[in-house]
Amino acid sequence: MNILTINAGSSSVKFAVFDTATNKQLYKSEIERVVSVEEAVRKIPDFLIAENIKIDAIGHRVAHGGAKFKDPQLINAEIIKAIEDCIPLAPLHNPLSLAGIKVTKEIWPNIQQVAVFDTAFHQTIPERAYTYAVPEKWRAIGLRRYGFHGTSHKYVMMRVAEELKLPVTHLRIISCHLGNGASVCAIERGVSVDTSMGMTSLEGLVMGTRSGDVDPGIFAYLSHTLGLSVDEIEMALYKESGLIALSGIGNDMRDIEKEASLGNKKAQLAIQVYAYRVRKYIASYAGVMGGVDVIAFTGGIGENSTSMRKRICERLDYLGLNFDDDKNISVKLTDSEAPQIQMDNSLVKVLVTQSHEQWMIAQEVFRILTLKITPASQFPPIPIAVSAHHIHLTDQAVEQLFGKGYKLKIRNQLSQPGFWAAEETLDVIGPHGEIKNMRVLGPCRDFIQIEIAETEAYILGTDAPIRLSGDRDGTPIVTLRGPKGSIQTEGLIIAKRHIHMNTKDAEARGLKQGDQVEVAVDGNGDRDLIFRDVMIRVDPKYVTEMHIDTDEANAAHIHHGGVGALMPVKGIAAHITHRHSHAHYTEQSFCLNCREEKEVA
Ligand code: AMP
Repeated sequence: MNILTINAGSSSVKFAVFDTATNKQLYKSEIERVVSVEEAVRKIPDFLIAENIKIDAIGHRVAHGGAKFKDPQLINAEIIKAIEDCIPLAPLHNPLSLAGIKVTKEIWPNIQQVAVFDTAFHQTIPERAYTYAVPEKWRAIGLRRYGFHGTSHKYVMMRVAEELKLPVTHLRIISCHLGNGASVCAIERGVSVDTSMGMTSLEGLVMGTRSGDVDPGIFAYLSHTLGLSVDEIEMALYKESGLIALSGIGNDMRDIEKEASLGNKKAQLAIQVYAYRVRKYIASYAGVMGGVDVIAFTGGIGENSTSMRKRICERLDYLGLNFDDDKNISVKLTDSEAPQIQMDNSLVKVLVTQSHEQWMIAQEVFRILTLKITPASQFPPIPIAVSAHHIHLTDQAVEQLFGKGYKLKIRNQLSQPGFWAAEETLDVIGPHGEIKNMRVLGPCRDFIQIEIAETEAYILGTDAPIRLSGDRDGTPIVTLRGPKGSIQTEGLIIAKRHIHMNTKDAEARGLKQGDQVEVAVDGNGDRDLIFRDVMIRVDPKYVTEMHIDTDEANAAHIHHGGVGALMPVKGIAAHITHRHSHAHYTEQSFCLNCREEKEVA
């Protein structure tokens, strides 16, 4: 599939064509100093005709998708309206994308077009990180942090994992996109958990012409003392701040570094403020993730400025980073290299890579357009089982807790073949409180896992992450108390809701292991709701059944024995919100969605 990607910016329109079958870039160009986006985009067909390139689909980079879009979207009237609705959140950027979309729709009315949102990658940021502590009325109209540069940060994550030959699920990455716009992203085990840009692209780092973080108190002060209007302040923060304001000579780091070396004090201060702010974010994100394995640099400054990388990485030795000046100086990127610039003994790796946003957009478009379409038909509803809290133990833990040679006794069989509830229970003790008599399930596994509902995490006094079974790295430590002993163990999780689906049932519905779907449940007329992000797990031995925890069951007012129906969408049996697709992760040894290793061809 040949995919045209368009990135319509204020000073240039970048475009490229990728052949997803060969994973090759067929064409790449940039129309600079554009009078209008419309005019620039109208020139694209001539470039493609000259190169004899035909296209099958188009992907548009769109800055803001609000809180609605976790994934790229096939563009239709509804999506255009949603992008328009987000204009107040991205006043400089969304109108440019819309202008590009309007023209490409005119030129290629019969070609599928997809909006790839800069905000989508950050939809995984937890509430505690995206919430501003402002009045509820303000939050009700969408005041929260969204984050940007998602396509770039996602590419960096994948490239880093590929270079280090590790699954993303094993890495805590701090991705520094330092271009004219700039942001830092904390990526923990494959998902964005925080990023420096907020509701708009103004928050965070010092940028070419944008201020980044300022005290919100300055708005009233500027209004009272200089009589500035809201529009004037906004324009100054977007266009007349950042490097251009500090240096007094422009926003190009090359010029600023040159002037600084000649003794220009303003240029020197601009560099110092810039590096200091990035370092501050890196340190805080290392705190957020409980450490950092990789710091990655991209964007014009991140890729090219050896001195900026050095300044930023100074004084990060307490994190275990041992920077290598020689390797740093010798970085020269020409394509998709990702050189490492730390000493061999450094605990933190530092990588530099170009930001292949256009390639990433093409990958996202391909992923969305190749979802298998299954004709809708009448499928029976899916039974729902409510999982109360429970514990999985190892053989060794059974002996430590119940005594040497002890074997668990089967109390009753569970609905999934081969699984049973044991007669034994344990007390689970957290830093704040304890939950008594939690049921142990069998048979024993090769890891300990304690599955609770979110409300119970408050009883224990610890944050339990939402995880798939077996995904225990970095989970909180609690104490298990049995009749013959106690052990401290990690493995406390809130189980990600999932459907155990028999292989035949999955095939009939066009579903695969790792897909995520929406399920509508009948809440007895009072609390009907739709569960999103339900993970499909497929096995020939499974009895098809959806598993939710007690919090989720209470929210929907359903009990064991309830049923749910896969949400159909426009003639498709299931609305697949995330498609498991190894094709998407061609460079990746692990699939982000189902966390399975890809099959090596
Ligand atoms: P981007 O928005 O990612 O294209 O980055 C553009 C910015 O990268 C320019 O405005 C420069 O500030 C910076 N840049 C590009 N090349 C260099 C370089 N060799 N040294 C320092 N900064 C550079």
